[in-house]
Amino acid sequence: MNKATRANALFRPLILLSVFATFLLLFGGWDLARRMNADAKQHEQQLVANGFANKIIEVDKGIVPQTVWDESLANLEARNLAWAQNNIGQYLYDTSFFQYSFVLDKDDRLFFAADTGEMTALSLYENFAPAMHKAIRDIRDRERARRSKGFMLGSLKEPVQYHNLLRLNGKVFIVVASLVEPDFGTVRQKYPTAPIVVAATEVNDQFLQQFGRRYMLPDLHLRQVQVDDTRDVAEVDLNDDRGQYVATLTWTPVRPGTELALKLLPPTLVTIALFFVVTALFHRRSWRAVQELIASEARASHLAYHDPLTGLPNRVMFFDRLGVALDQLRRNGTPVAVHCLDLDRFKDVNDTFGHQIGDELIVAASKRIAEVCRRSDTFARLSGDEFAIVQLDATPHAAARLAERIVDAISQPMDLSSGRIHVSCSIGVNLLIEGEVSAADALRHADLALYRSKNNGRAQYSFFEPEMDAAMRMRREIETELREALYDGDLHMVYQPQADKHGRIAGVEALLRWHHPTRGDISPAMFIPIAEECGLINEVGMYTLREVFLASRKWDGLKVAVNISAAQLRMRDFPEKVAELLKECAVDPRTFELEITEGLLLGDDPVTHGVLKELRQMGFSIALDDFGTGYSSLSYLQRYPIDKIKIDRSFIANLGIERESVAVVQAIVKLARALRLDVIAEGVETTEQRDQLIDIGCEEIQGYLYSRPVDSARIDEMFRGRADASLQTA
Ligand code: C2E
Ligand code: CA
Ligand code: CA
Repeated sequence: MNKATRANALFRPLILLSVFATFLLLFGGWDLARRMNADAKQHEQQLVANGFANKIIEVDKGIVPQTVWDESLANLEARNLAWAQNNIGQYLYDTSFFQYSFVLDKDDRLFFAADTGEMTALSLYENFAPAMHKAIRDIRDRERARRSKGFMLGSLKEPVQYHNLLRLNGKVFIVVASLVEPDFGTVRQKYPTAPIVVAATEVNDQFLQQFGRRYMLPDLHLRQVQVDDTRDVAEVDLNDDRGQYVATLTWTPVRPGTELALKLLPPTLVTIALFFVVTALFHRRSWRAVQELIASEARASHLAYHDPLTGLPNRVMFFDRLGVALDQLRRNGTPVAVHCLDLDRFKDVNDTFGHQIGDELIVAASKRIAEVCRRSDTFARLSGDEFAIVQLDATPHAAARLAERIVDAISQPMDLSSGRIHVSCSIGVNLLIEGEVSAADALRHADLALYRSKNNGRAQYSFFEPEMDAAMRMRREIETELREALYDGDLHMVYQPQADKHGRIAGVEALLRWHHPTRGDISPAMFIPIAEECGLINEVGMYTLREVFLASRKWDGLKVAVNISAAQLRMRDFPEKVAELLKECAVDPRTFELEITEGLLLGDDPVTHGVLKELRQMGFSIALDDFGTGYSSLSYLQRYPIDKIKIDRSFIANLGIERESVAVVQAIVKLARALRLDVIAEGVETTEQRDQLIDIGCEEIQGYLYSRPVDSARIDEMFRGRADASLQTA
């Protein structure tokens, strides 16, 4: 998942929730307003319906002064048309807006009709008669009922009135029928039934306005058709006394919900806007925080998998990739090469120039190596100056070529801030073509091959071979066993005599022996290098010296040569320890010759030089062992304080076989003579070799010709017989 999708995954629910909440709020508000509006409308309709009923009763009352009146009863029973014209037609029109008025006699026969106050044709009533049929009948029923109860004055009793609604020529009328009755009883009713006044008033605009004003309905009006779709208007249906539809009162209802909503909308919108602004701000800050979190997580994981100095993958990532590569090898047989690299003498650079330059060198070297690698290779820094590469899909040729190119690239001079520097690197290559191997073993085997490269003189690469592993295992075992041997007393010294030109014993070389309880005798050529590597050499060396010092005390005047390892010379306090030992054993250092071996291990550092100088000042003489095998033998002679040269066994063995060997030995002897150094030949096995050496001028001789290394008791014997006899040749 990339950064953006991860951040979105965090925020999407938040945004959705906000939007959802906003919708909920808006919808809730809208629904509330709608319901408030509906309630208000219903309430208003109820109010208007009641109001209209009251209004009709008011209309009814408007006619009462003219019908409940002694005078009216007298005149109308008498069918006085002139009186009716003034007091009914004209009066009702003027005072109560009754447009039409009619009078029926005691037998319900019409005898008077008026239109807008003026007397008119009786036929006009035909329009009203059907609608008033029920009202008239009801009035007569009441009249009859009242009569049976007895007489009562008009002012004390309910007027007998009925009304109806009527649509006529597109107009709606309220029509009232009212029984004519006496009020104070000044006239007597002549007949059992009284006349009836019928009056009609139109529900016109003026009427509606007046009614609407009372109920604050400014747009109240009348509609004469029933419509279903009346969502936005309030309405009250008006029916006649038989329940027939007449018209509808309609008006725009108050909408308190909408009003409230409109009032609340701006602050709500502002609040929502604010909410979104705050959310956006929060989102932005959180987004940044998340980005930072993601970045720091990325940094942390980069740190966990990379080396901070070079930015290269580290050991963790290396093993990760190696694991994947080994999986592929097992599954599809894709070959893989593991290269183990080490800068030669990196420690010297660090010691001489300091850590900062050391770091510069590491960075510069890693860049060069990276340039040579392919993109598919994993090039990692494992530690210090130790690098490793996982090379995918590697043929033997490709693996060799990569190693070769790295060795070449590193051996080019490097420009560091301290100046130009020459270094080299050694590589071990472990090529895996098949089979199953753990990542740890894959790297360990490459490391063994690297070890081989180092031992063979550095600045080169070697391929891992299974024997190396066995050899390495063996070394490990020997290391532990050597430690035990040192304490168990399984180590002892033997001595090999050295003869002068007359064959007389002139000295001995002390050689170390290890009699292993199960492996038998182990050669010092084998275990001394192991002791050097694991640091045991100091203990072994001091053990040797003590043995030799003690044994030498019986051989007064005999030169005793002791082999000293280069590793011992790198110990600053070595001379001091030797001095103590000399004192302890009470021996003279001039008796002893220290053999040092020229070669890669012999350091050219100030400590080694100092230690050698000190030992020589103490009285020891120094011999350069195995002379001629190293490539810089001559320069050793100049740099170290040497007293004697020991011609290497290999030249002696070839005397009489290779012509060149004679020449080399001759040259060495001449050189020694020129530098006033003693010279001795070792490994002399035949009299021919001896004679040839004596011819050349090498007069000291050591080898099986005279004697193999023997124990000190045997030397005691030889020493005692020295005066009488020369050494016997074998
Ligand atoms: P090196 O100092 O060159 O010792 C001479 C080696 O040649 C000895 O092997 C000796 O036994 C062998 N040798 C002597 N004469 C003949 C001969 O005529 N023919 C043949 N083929 N070999 C002969 P050794 O004792 O196995 O020692 C091997 C190496 O171990 C020594 O080589 C020396 O470098 C090292 N070494 C032995 N003892 C010590 C010791 O006490 N301390 C240290 N540091 N190294 C030792
Ligand atoms: Ca030696
Ligand atoms: Ca030697």
